[in-house]
Amino acid sequence: MDIRSLINKEAKSGCHDSAIFGGFAAWVAAQGEVFSCDEMTNWADRYVAESLAMRPALLEELRALLDSIDYKPPKEQSTAMAAPIISKGSLALPVVKMRQVGEKRAQILRKLGVETLEDLLFFLPRAYRDWRQPKPIAQLCYGESALIRARIKEYRLINARRVQILKAWLVDDSGMICAVWYNQPYVEKQLQQDKEIIVWGCLEKRYGQSEFTVQEYELTPEAFIPQIVPLYRGYAGLPQKTIRRLINQVLTQYGHLLEDTLPPQLALKYGYGPLSQAVQALHAPKDFHQAEQARSQLAYEELLKMQLALRLSRGERARQGLLMSCEQSILPTFLQEIPFKLTNAQLRVIKEIYDDMEKATPMSRLIQGDVGSGKTIVAAAALYKCYKSSYQGALMAPTEILAQQHYNTLQPLLLKLGLQVELLTGSTSSAEKRRIIMALGEHKIDVLIGTHALIQDKVNFARLGLAITDEQHRFGVRQRSLLTQNSLADILVMTATPIPRTLALTLYADLRLSVIDELPPGRKPIRTDAVDYRYEQRIYRFIEKELQKGRQAFIVCPLVDESEKLDLQSAVELAQHLREEVFTFHRVGLLHGRMKAPEKAGVMASFAAGETDVLVATTVIEVGVNIPNATVMLVRDAERFGLAQLHQLRGRIGRGAQQSYCILLHQAHSDTARERMRIISQSNDGFVLAEADLRLRGPGEFFGSRQHGLPELAIADVFRDAKLLAAAHSDADAIMQGAYGDTSTLKLLAREKLRLLERN
Ligand code: ADP
Ligand code: MG
Repeated sequence: MDIRSLINKEAKSGCHDSAIFGGFAAWVAAQGEVFSCDEMTNWADRYVAESLAMRPALLEELRALLDSIDYKPPKEQSTAMAAPIISKGSLALPVVKMRQVGEKRAQILRKLGVETLEDLLFFLPRAYRDWRQPKPIAQLCYGESALIRARIKEYRLINARRVQILKAWLVDDSGMICAVWYNQPYVEKQLQQDKEIIVWGCLEKRYGQSEFTVQEYELTPEAFIPQIVPLYRGYAGLPQKTIRRLINQVLTQYGHLLEDTLPPQLALKYGYGPLSQAVQALHAPKDFHQAEQARSQLAYEELLKMQLALRLSRGERARQGLLMSCEQSILPTFLQEIPFKLTNAQLRVIKEIYDDMEKATPMSRLIQGDVGSGKTIVAAAALYKCYKSSYQGALMAPTEILAQQHYNTLQPLLLKLGLQVELLTGSTSSAEKRRIIMALGEHKIDVLIGTHALIQDKVNFARLGLAITDEQHRFGVRQRSLLTQNSLADILVMTATPIPRTLALTLYADLRLSVIDELPPGRKPIRTDAVDYRYEQRIYRFIEKELQKGRQAFIVCPLVDESEKLDLQSAVELAQHLREEVFTFHRVGLLHGRMKAPEKAGVMASFAAGETDVLVATTVIEVGVNIPNATVMLVRDAERFGLAQLHQLRGRIGRGAQQSYCILLHQAHSDTARERMRIISQSNDGFVLAEADLRLRGPGEFFGSRQHGLPELAIADVFRDAKLLAAAHSDADAIMQGAYGDTSTLKLLAREKLRLLERN
């Protein structure tokens, strides 16, 4: 098919995007992918967005573009154009088989976890935009996104030094607002004075001026359909419009292929319809109620599978455990060697663990303790008993930094008690790795600390007696069992997540619970203050004073997926700015997620050693890191974090004897954001915060926010869906007892689901 003749055809037929089956623009986009020509893909998106009147000009533009890039039609057109044959297995097809998806788009989709058509169907919106009713301009509120319908009074493109700003003054019956596009100069050509436009954006105050930052717009109000539109997790190079188009197409062509796996009696009990309908309703809901219904159906199914998987894996765990019956008198020896006096809560939990270890059934225990409650030393006590009973122990942490930190604290302590401790992570050299694996097999190592590297095939313990995982949420059930796969070892899981007791018991149906509900003495409560950016300089002066006293400070910048690159950029720039202009007499380090593991470990190590004074970091420091000398935690753009996350971050300080300060620098405009800032400033209690967090999340936001650190479920949120979880819990029991007949497919899927969850 020759693109130039298609252009002619499209022009002749009135620019209805119909020159070819499946849409002309979509076809051009696919060509763009094949040729890695971004201009073509961008062009296609603009074409779809454009009004009929403006499209002929765009076709001209495309012709010129083709000439300029010396376009030749690809040879294998026929295969790319083959009509899809729809069969049962079609859902397993890779997305790249779709006409609109080339290698490039497929790559972006893969990053989002989407590989097959089915994945695309389950790529669920993380929120919705309510486009049913435009809002009068006069009623817009700061910090709130809204839809307006207005007339373009005037517009102009401003070329600033680094950005191009397009400003358009829009009026409706109620008032006027200045809409702003950043770095999208091509929009200017689409605007026209006195024309009507529909804009979705957010009212903000920048340098004292009110402006309406445009997120999406529609230049043909006559073609506009009032509806609720889904908002997906985005990625540079994959605009919302494109995701919507892709999903829409798969829905219409393949949606009906989704098969129901719930036992019919259960579907009936809860009034659930076919899965395909629920999925359809999630991507294109008629109203919010319908969306929530559909979401809870999918959430229930997910929770049910998780509960089944838990029971299946528990069934596989050996019934006979190890007896660790070394003499009781070991505890005093341990207590003598540690540098502080344990809290009563710590002692109680150690006692619970020791009792478990002495029993013949394998221990499965969850230790819950707020940040800073001292879980590490409890782990050390367990490892010591394990060693005294002539077994080996393993301690697995979710990140290299944490593993390294555990090694740094535990190695010297345990060495004094006679234990040989080693560290194994992804960045351990292969020679070193060989040596460790060898020594492990010969029982020359008593405790191995590490990351996921611990559960690789080759790592075999001679006599594994105890497997501990720290900050459990980063690991799933399967990894827990992998570590103990071929042995009867005891399991200990540690978490700082404030899960209410009943929820924890349901969620981790296979674990028993110990709570460290007391902080070590002498801790001064952290002072938390939320302030806006007017105070930025004053805060720097305050930090400067702390630095002069020899203390250290964390400065955290948010890193949120959508604008990842931008955020990274701002962290880099901030570090440079602070180094050159603010803390000129101090050393400023930088830590971010794109760094390689050894590099991160290096930065962290030098901060821990006091070689840097200020650490600018994206959220990678979130879990577990322990630097007692750090007394300041400054969180920038704090309104972008959830309460649970802020609490985790705050837990990084206040670990020494000095007064610590958490400063939340924010630009919270909305009421909820302000409320969040108020709550976090007033409470230090993880449970209180977790509940408030849940309460404050808006109705449009029900997907995502995994910030509580609970298991990474795709749909369900164990907090919000506590009731569904309880239902799934008892239904899973009934299924296991055979109450619903043959459920082998469901069980198969449950295992599959578990495997997928764990892989991510
Ligand atoms: P978390 O529970 O967050 O993992 P850690 O185990 O990292 O907490 O402990 C936080 C800090 O408190 C560490 O510096 C640790 O040495 C110290 N610590 C733990 N228990 C006590 C105690 N009983 N008395 C004094 N300091 C303690
Ligand atoms: Mg910890």
